[in-house]
Amino acid sequence: MRNRIYIKDLKEHIGKEVIIAGWVDVRRDQGKMIFFDMRDMTGKVQCVALPGKNFPSKNFPAFALGDKGQGTHGFLNSSPESLVKEIRPEWVLKITGKVNKRPEKNIKAEVLNGDLELEVTQIEVLNKAETTPFQITESTIGINEDLRMKYKYLDLRTERMQKNIRMRDKIISFFRDYMHKNGFIEIETPILMKGTPEGSREYVVPSRLFNGKFYVLPQSPQQFKQLCMVAGFEKYFQIARCMRDEDTRGDRQLEFTQLDFEISFVTQEEVLEYTEAMFIELVKNVYPEKKISKIPFPRISYAESMKKYGSDKPDMRVNKNDPNELAFVWVLDFPMFEKTKEGELQAVHHPFCSIKEEDKEKFIKGEDMFSIRANAYDLVLNSYELSSGSIRIHERAIQKQVFDLLKISEEEQQKRFGHMLEAFTFGAPPHGGFAPGIDRIVMILQNEPNIREVIAFPKTGEGRDLMMGSPASITDKQLKELGIKLVK
Ligand code: ASP
Repeated sequence: MRNRIYIKDLKEHIGKEVIIAGWVDVRRDQGKMIFFDMRDMTGKVQCVALPGKNFPSKNFPAFALGDKGQGTHGFLNSSPESLVKEIRPEWVLKITGKVNKRPEKNIKAEVLNGDLELEVTQIEVLNKAETTPFQITESTIGINEDLRMKYKYLDLRTERMQKNIRMRDKIISFFRDYMHKNGFIEIETPILMKGTPEGSREYVVPSRLFNGKFYVLPQSPQQFKQLCMVAGFEKYFQIARCMRDEDTRGDRQLEFTQLDFEISFVTQEEVLEYTEAMFIELVKNVYPEKKISKIPFPRISYAESMKKYGSDKPDMRVNKNDPNELAFVWVLDFPMFEKTKEGELQAVHHPFCSIKEEDKEKFIKGEDMFSIRANAYDLVLNSYELSSGSIRIHERAIQKQVFDLLKISEEEQQKRFGHMLEAFTFGAPPHGGFAPGIDRIVMILQNEPNIREVIAFPKTGEGRDLMMGSPASITDKQLKELGIKLVK
């Protein structure tokens, strides 16, 4: 909109007439005077409409009100004074007005535009709004979450949600900059792929051109980032979406975002140092009011953490009630193998982790499997696992030995991981990496109770999108093209 100015900039226009546009926030009638706040993406301002004084009828040719809130073009024949009385929260207005300093006694120094108000001279209604299912002017944290999800676009209008999503963007752009400054390149890896063993069930996507065949969605870009190392990029990163078909588990989302990175010719110590410096810088730059309990971050072995805290996510905060305390801790030397509840052997992180030098002998012999440790590390923050990573295997024989120990048959190895085994025969450099979870980082920094509060369009715990209505059925035609018959 030409000549429109943002609400945060009103202070630069004191005494002048300006145009703003946005939503009606709260309105307060005081006798003949009508006050209402206007809101745009930059903030709020109090508007004052003084009936009679600044509403000569000739000022209202642009007063375009639709009848009954339908169209916005049509004019209403009532007087301007009654029109301004019709304005309701969440209507979309274009307002012309004069920026006045507030009388001394009405100044609210601590809020944006607390020292000024807009004296309305002309209003154009760009759109009306029904009464919203919940109040936009307050935090919606206590509102039924299903309702918030159904009307996510309204929930997102609230100040708290706007802040969360905008801070998320700040954090992500900090990471992108930091990575680029340190010589990393962002590479997009496929969403339609063949599966990677990250310990969860995979989402499958049927292929139309190859009926009976399926893509799966990445649980992480793990194999691709390792192949980027084989490809010679040396320093890769990606703000990567990961999908895992897990059963409802509290604060999980089926899709989440990682700052995924991988470095060639790197030691574990270097990954730890790099990551640590990055987080310290993030807090310093984006959350200066927060304090990190201990620098350098304390380190503890997995075994010690389990013994001392009964958990591999120890909470190292001094004061758990201090919303500004950040207690990072490194958990090192994770075991390579574990038994699942079903009694099956699996890799604790994933089968691409390298083995600790001290445990190599046992590994080669395949002895005492559960005592074999990997060069695998986690970063924990205030009892949340922020990230997992490891120095990887880069030699074919060792990778094969892991698959053998995991009892993956020769045929299965070729079928699922043949490309990795082969890639390692073409001069794969030693490499390692890490993948901090963005949703959790934002949640903790924003002091939110769960990650749904920091994701623009989250799903319910059961993986439903209540706004769009997914998952949903597809048409018989689609099923037929895909060669799929549903079992009723
Ligand atoms: N791909 C791993 C994960 O998603 C992270 C890593 O090992 O870099 O947890």
